[in-house]
Amino acid sequence: MVAVGDMLVGYATDEDVRKRGASGGLVTAVLAAALEKGLVEDVVVMKHINEFEAVPIITDDVDEVLASTGSLHSVPVNLAKYAKGRKVAMPAKPCDAQAVIEQSKRNMIDLDTTYIVGLNCGGSMHPVVTKKMLAEMYDIDPDDVVGEEIEKGKLIFKTKDGQEKGIPIDELEEAGFGRRESCRFCTIKIPVNADLACGNWGVIGDLAGSATFCQVMNDKGVKLLENAIDAGRIEVQPASDKAIAIREKVNNAMVNLGNTLEEKIITEIPDEERLQYYLGQMENCIDCGACKEVCPVCSCDEDSKCTMFHSLADDYKMSMYHLVRLLHLTDSCIACGQCSDVCPSDIPITILQSRFAIPAQRKRNYQPGMNLDRPPFFEVMVK
Ligand SMILES: Cc1cc2nc3c(=O)[nH]c(=O)nc-3n(C[C@H](O)[C@H](O)[C@H](O)COP(=O)(O)OP(=O)(O)OC[C@H]3O[C@@H](n4cnc5c(N)ncnc54)[C@H](O)[C@@H]3O)c2cc1C
Ligand code: SF4
Ligand code: SF4
Ligand code: SF4
Repeated sequence: MVAVGDMLVGYATDEDVRKRGASGGLVTAVLAAALEKGLVEDVVVMKHINEFEAVPIITDDVDEVLASTGSLHSVPVNLAKYAKGRKVAMPAKPCDAQAVIEQSKRNMIDLDTTYIVGLNCGGSMHPVVTKKMLAEMYDIDPDDVVGEEIEKGKLIFKTKDGQEKGIPIDELEEAGFGRRESCRFCTIKIPVNADLACGNWGVIGDLAGSATFCQVMNDKGVKLLENAIDAGRIEVQPASDKAIAIREKVNNAMVNLGNTLEEKIITEIPDEERLQYYLGQMENCIDCGACKEVCPVCSCDEDSKCTMFHSLADDYKMSMYHLVRLLHLTDSCIACGQCSDVCPSDIPITILQSRFAIPAQRKRNYQPGMNLDRPPFFEVMVK
C-alpha cells in the first residue's frame, strides 16, 4: 500500500529500462503502466535524437514510452502545452508542473485527468551554449557525449569511451556557460507541485545510480504508483532516514544558491534609469512574437490581447505587445526561461518579465503554479 507523504526508493523491474533510465527507470515504468492499465489515453515523453536534441511526443504506444528513458539536461523545452485538452500522464520538471497548474487555473487543462510525474531539477542548459562549453571548457567533442549529471556542485559529462570529466558549476557560470539564466535563480528544485516528486538526490549505497527517490505528493501520486506496482513494472521500498536527510540537505543548498543568484541577476535599477533601461533592452525587438508562442502559461490563444493591440506599423520603441505581456503575465510568469531561449534578438525577456512579476507575486504571497488554493490575483477563477 502506498500513502500520501511516503518517501520511497524504487526502480523499473525491466532490467533494460532500469539500465537505460536516468536513475533506475522508475519514471518511465510509471508512465508506461499508466498507459497500459488505461489510467490515461496518452503519455507525453521526449523522443531522443541525440544528447542535445529531442522532441516532445504525445503517444499511446507503450514501446515508445519505454524507449524514452534518460534525462536531457540540454533540451530545456516546457511540456505543459502538450497536456492541453488531453487525458495524459507526463514527466515534469518543477516549471513544467507550474505551467500545467497555471493553465488549469485558466480552464485549459483538467488536472483530474492529467497525471504529473515530477522530476527534481538542478537546472537545464541551452544546447548551443552546452556544445560551445564542451569544446572550450571540457575539450570534449559533443558527439562523444553519452550522458551528464550534476553532483557535488560539478557538472559532469560522460563520454563514449567510459571517461568522465567534471567542472564546478560556479566556474562554468562565471565563464558565461552552464545553466540557463532562469535556472540559476529558480528555487523550486523538488517538484512538490506534481503528483510524484522523483529524482536521484537521496539515492545512496548500492542503489546509487540505479534507483529513483520518489515522494508521493497526493492521491493521484498514490494511484500512479499503485498502478505501476500492480502492473509489475516497478519495485519500491521505504527511503532510509539518512537518504531523506541527504535529499533535504542538497535541496536546501540548491535553494540557497538560487536565492543568492537572484540577487546578483535581478539587480536594482535606479528610478531615473528605469525607462531608458527597458527601452534599451527592447530596441532590437523585431516583433516576431516567438516569445508569446513559446510561453507555457499564455492561455489566450487566438484571442490574445498583446497581438490584438499591436501593429507592426506602430513606431514605438517598446511595442504595445510587450507592454500588454509585461502586465498580463504578472501573476502567471513562472520565469521558465523559454522566451529568452527563443528570442532571435537575444533579448533577456525572462529577466525583464521577472522584474515585473517577481515583486508583484511576492507582495501578494502568490507563487504561480504551486497550488490550487488561490486563484491568480489578476483573475477570477471560473469553476
Ligand atoms: C533537466 C533535468 C535536470 C535534473 N536535475 C536533477 C537534479 O539536480 N537532482 C535530481 O535529484 N534529479 C534531477 N533530475 C531528475 C533525474 O535526472 C531523473 O530524471 C529522475 O531521477 C528519474 O529517473 P528515472 O530513471 O526514473 O527516469 P527515466 O525513466 O529515465 O525517465 C526520464 C523521463 O524524463 C523525461 N525527460 C527527459 N528530459 C526531459 C526534459 N528536459 N524535460 C522534461 N522531461 C524530460 C523523459 O521523457 C522520461 O519520461 C533532472 C532531470 C532533468 C530532465
Ligand atoms: S526553471 Fe527551474 S525547474 Fe525549470 S528547467 Fe530551470 S531549474 Fe529546472
Ligand atoms: S513570460 Fe517567459 S519566463 Fe515567463 S512564463 Fe512565459 S515564457 Fe516563461
Ligand atoms: S522573441 Fe524577441 S524579437 Fe521576437 S517578439 Fe519576443 S522579444 Fe521581440
